[in-house]
Amino acid sequence: MITYQHIYIHVPFCSRRCSYCDFSIAVRKDVPAAEFITGIREELARRTPKPGPAATIYLGGGTPSKLGAAGIATLYSVLKDAGIAPAAGAELTVEANPEDLTGQTAEALLVAGVNRLSVGVQSFDPAVLEWMHRTHTADQSAAAVRAAREAGFEDISIDLIYALPERLNRDWDRDVDQAIELEPDHLSVYGLTIEPRTVLGRWTARGAEVPETDDHAAEQFLRAHERLTTAGLEHYEVSSYGRTTGIGSGSGRGGVGGRGYRSRHNSAYWQRVPYLGLGPSAHSYDGTTRRWNVAAYAEWQRALAQGDPIAGSETLDADQIDEELIYLGLRTSEGLDVRPEWSDRVLRWVEQGWATINGPGAAGSAPRVRLTPEGWLRMDALVADLDFPHAPGRT
Ligand code: SF4
Repeated sequence: MITYQHIYIHVPFCSRRCSYCDFSIAVRKDVPAAEFITGIREELARRTPKPGPAATIYLGGGTPSKLGAAGIATLYSVLKDAGIAPAAGAELTVEANPEDLTGQTAEALLVAGVNRLSVGVQSFDPAVLEWMHRTHTADQSAAAVRAAREAGFEDISIDLIYALPERLNRDWDRDVDQAIELEPDHLSVYGLTIEPRTVLGRWTARGAEVPETDDHAAEQFLRAHERLTTAGLEHYEVSSYGRTTGIGSGSGRGGVGGRGYRSRHNSAYWQRVPYLGLGPSAHSYDGTTRRWNVAAYAEWQRALAQGDPIAGSETLDADQIDEELIYLGLRTSEGLDVRPEWSDRVLRWVEQGWATINGPGAAGSAPRVRLTPEGWLRMDALVADLDFPHAPGRT
């Protein structure tokens, strides 16, 4: 039995599938919150984690905000019944779509115990939002973030997507600036990937859409990086930017748990710390083995009725773990100790502007390499340059 300090619950419900989305979701007009929560309770009974305090609880999806504050409060109580109560200063994140977030719902979420919101904005351009099949407007995004702040949320993250097809004429710089104007504590910028089994994949396959070029996508990433870091956000992971000090009503608090506004939950993944995942398609890691659940909601329910929803597992060997540690180190601003056999290659990265080296540190510790934004753009190639050809799965 293991004590999990990091809990992920996949809430699969969305009101419509976005054009680019290949996540495990269930499109529902009316969300079966009680049925879903019963399923989580049953899955938890099969996992029997050792009771202990949780440092982070992350409700992702899907659209967890569709459960409503009452549903989320019930989920927290289900975890508590299993002995998993939030530790003091725990980070309790809920992903929310803007249309679900009014002043009233934000207040109710705070009362339920939520203290961090990740708002799926993606763009402020009405034509782009329509193309994405998003179910919110640009005005709703701005209003949602402001309402959450006014309600008292002190840790708010915004998601944006770049690298959209050029024909959309999307003004990426303007979108980034509008996001900055909302003064989020954290921002995630994701490059659009075109998955074959999506509406966008089909548009692309028949030539109705042409993917953005890698060069243009790289330019967009670098311009966003410049704007976000100038606005005071720290780039701590390839897609993630966080404030180091607060601007909410608890200004100076330094984020939930007093460690800046980095996502502590995602940081646990990147540090290979054990986590428990519940719900369809959720992954878990016990320090040795990764397990994942069946993806579809109906299948997850059936599997729970018949036994266990685990669909597969993998246990990495020492070489795979080493490769994963290298990939994760380069992915974050933590960087990586330079091994003697890498010295020439890493020095070449520095000459190219792809990395910086600090050290050697005190007591002869190894020098440390960290990628620059240009380096992050070619991370897979750099991992391969260290004789690790297969970039491992990215969580
Ligand atoms: S809201 Fe998120 S999870 Fe739901 S369909 Fe859109 S991208 Fe997918």
